[in-house]
Amino acid sequence: MKNLVFLLLAAGIALQNSSLQGLTKFEKRALEKQQIAKNIVFFSHEPLMFGLRRGGVPENWPERYERQHSPENIRLMAKAGWRYGRLHFYKGFGLETEMPEIRKSMEAARLMHKLGMKVSLYVGGTMFIETFYRETPEAINWEQRDQYGRPVPYLVGTQTFRHFACPNEPAYREYIKRVLKVGIDSLKADQFFFDNYFLRAEPKSCRCPRCLKAFKEFLKRRFPTPEALRARLGYSDVEYVKVNEWDEFNRPEDVVNVDDPVLQEWIRFRCETLADQCREFYTYIKSINPQISVGFNLKGLYSLNRIWYNAVYHPFFAGYCDFFCFDIDGMEQGLNPETGALVTEIRSYKLARRLDMACSDGDPGIQLAEQMAFNYQKYIPGFGYHGAGYNHYAQRVLSPLAEFFREYNDRYYTHTENVADCAVFRTWPSMAYSVWKTSIPTILAEQVLIQHKVPFDIIVDQHIDTIERYGAVILPGQESLSKENIERLVQYVRSGGTLIFTGNTADYNQWRRRRARNPLLSLMGLQRRPSVTTVRKLDKGKLVYIPEIIPGIKITPKGRWAFPSSQWVLPANHEEIYNAIARHLPGGLSIVTEAPLTTAMEILNREKSKETIIHFVNYEQGKKLAPFRVELKPQFKGRVSSVAFFSPEHDDPLKLEFTEAGGKLIFTVPEMQMYSMIVVSYTS
Ligand SMILES: [Zn+2]
Repeated sequence: MKNLVFLLLAAGIALQNSSLQGLTKFEKRALEKQQIAKNIVFFSHEPLMFGLRRGGVPENWPERYERQHSPENIRLMAKAGWRYGRLHFYKGFGLETEMPEIRKSMEAARLMHKLGMKVSLYVGGTMFIETFYRETPEAINWEQRDQYGRPVPYLVGTQTFRHFACPNEPAYREYIKRVLKVGIDSLKADQFFFDNYFLRAEPKSCRCPRCLKAFKEFLKRRFPTPEALRARLGYSDVEYVKVNEWDEFNRPEDVVNVDDPVLQEWIRFRCETLADQCREFYTYIKSINPQISVGFNLKGLYSLNRIWYNAVYHPFFAGYCDFFCFDIDGMEQGLNPETGALVTEIRSYKLARRLDMACSDGDPGIQLAEQMAFNYQKYIPGFGYHGAGYNHYAQRVLSPLAEFFREYNDRYYTHTENVADCAVFRTWPSMAYSVWKTSIPTILAEQVLIQHKVPFDIIVDQHIDTIERYGAVILPGQESLSKENIERLVQYVRSGGTLIFTGNTADYNQWRRRRARNPLLSLMGLQRRPSVTTVRKLDKGKLVYIPEIIPGIKITPKGRWAFPSSQWVLPANHEEIYNAIARHLPGGLSIVTEAPLTTAMEILNREKSKETIIHFVNYEQGKKLAPFRVELKPQFKGRVSSVAFFSPEHDDPLKLEFTEAGGKLIFTVPEMQMYSMIVVSYTS
């Protein structure tokens, strides 16, 4: 309380102690910080110059901009417990042009470090042609060029004064490294965040001579012999290759499936090129200082084919990206008010965890609760945990939930590994070469797992050798599957795994060539596609075929959101899908709860302290959740010593009664609001 009074005085606030009575400690802390925050101007990652050039900033923007750098402001932030801040650094106007503003960040960074705060620097990925070409005239040669040889501008509003650089241009990469060196040496950056590093959708792909040459080299690597190339393209000389051109009769927006083999390879080339550029920046930074954290604005995993549109394929960034953010319209987390669809970033969190990346999110409300439950807090010595309660987004949230998160961050949210009974396997050719149709069964199957609270992972081709850790692998409408992957999956089944597949899974090979017979159905001894869920044993394992995942609502495409998140309603046969999974998991489900379908759950084990941690998120905002029963398979050997219920509504955890029967631990989660955490402790 002494601390509270001090903080309130420091903020010039006279708050009566009596008005705090009856509040939880988390509410009190949130209130303290809200009072202090009234006098804080949060950092903006944008330089003043950008706001003024772009337009649309408030009249007092220059004053607010000045105030954010002031020592008084930064000291106040530190006093309120801020441990981190992202400063404007390089937007793309040119180093010389931006230097006066970079110096302001330099001063701010010096003080932040003195006060024990981490400094994150923003790096933008477009070239501002009005100023940058004045100071670096040769940069005009670094631009991307579309099929007509025109530059490729930025796409939001009227910002055509920003052009994208070609990711295959070495001089541009070298320039950005010079920028990074300034950040490392002069601002002692603890983190870099790269924005705008994505490629534009067709017809705006870069067709410059550099890219076309690099594409041919890429094809030679992929198909090193004349025979291999002939099998793929029909001829054996890579020099013949021309990437298709778009016109009014051949519009990219009309493409549903990509069957053209050159275009298929072009999609992969674009993804690899973008990732290669980012890897070069990552490797450069880490070669100077491995303690610096590096993240990119990759956004998450949506029913929007970002492989096709933006050349973003997250697995290509594995090992070269510490964190990414979401930053996208059309993904407002929560229950959609019109359709009731549960809209969530859980997929993004799941894939990120398997790729050893953290997600950066945590705006107030359900976003923060979701981050707490599902984020993997990647640790980098020297920097610390990513996605923690004191990082970029979460630290700006001044709510009781955020205070709860900060209180328990290091104790319960770190050193955890999630429990996953099954995995959804998203194959590259199914997700990349179907512009939107594959996303429907995929998203809907994942929706069943999320809302029925089945512990699961999302995996991709590079995880194929980790499938033995799952009781079941699920292929929801994964139409294109290579022979190698099929053989690997069959081996998995023969040794005891369950393979659940739906719809047209494996109808095509990895080049989207239709097979004469479906190899998985053949293996089940089925001549025709059955119309009901069908199960067959194969050695020690099982094959389960579900004919269709039936959308729960009519799907009406909306631009690139061919399957808008508002339509992620549970499929009509969700019970059937859930039952097929639950019934055919070799060891059964690790956890079964009676929490409603408007909730989500994550279960993790914390080996270090021998605890199982279960997070519940209630998406029905503003509504209290009635108590519900949980049956858990104990996760550690030994006796369960306690089950504790943690919630931001209680100062201290509540001890829960529990029983053990039939190898299950049974307890009831008390009434909760948006978020709660259960900690199961064991003694040996
Ligand atoms: Zn290019």
